[in-house]
Amino acid sequence: MKTLKLIIELVPSTVWYSSIYRLCKEKNQMHKWHKIKKELFEKEGRKCWICGKENIRLEAHEFWEYDDLKHIQKLGAIHHLCSMCHKIKHIGLWLHTEDGARMLKEAGLSEVDVIAHFCAINNCSVEDFDKHKKEAFEIFAERSKYNWKQDFGNIIM
Ligand SMILES: [Zn+2]
Ligand SMILES: [Zn+2]
Repeated sequence: MKTLKLIIELVPSTVWYSSIYRLCKEKNQMHKWHKIKKELFEKEGRKCWICGKENIRLEAHEFWEYDDLKHIQKLGAIHHLCSMCHKIKHIGLWLHTEDGARMLKEAGLSEVDVIAHFCAINNCSVEDFDKHKKEAFEIFAERSKYNWKQDFGNIIM
């Protein structure tokens, strides 16, 4: 299969809720989060880092790298995404939990819209989506067996 521009990246369940955003919030350091966002706007402009959509609300997404031998989850980068590309990243939440289903409905969207966005950005078929999603969930299941040591890279908390 060809390389996909927009891929699903599921965070192992053992490290759910542990992110830069959460840390900033818990430690009362939201100014750090705002600084990260401001720097992103300055560096990358006000557009989705993946699909390039402009004039929309942008959500900062943490891109993680996984060392599957040492079980280290390292923060590779943070980029601004549009809400649809961001939903693909966290597709487990949006399409596979009750909370996600409710929020999706509240946003006036359905599973079909989310899948259609994936197919449009990647110029692929729904079958390609299904195959990619299955693989992403297999990786997720395997990685969720382990505890991960987190490495926030050059972001100091
Ligand atoms: Zn996008
Ligand atoms: Zn995210």
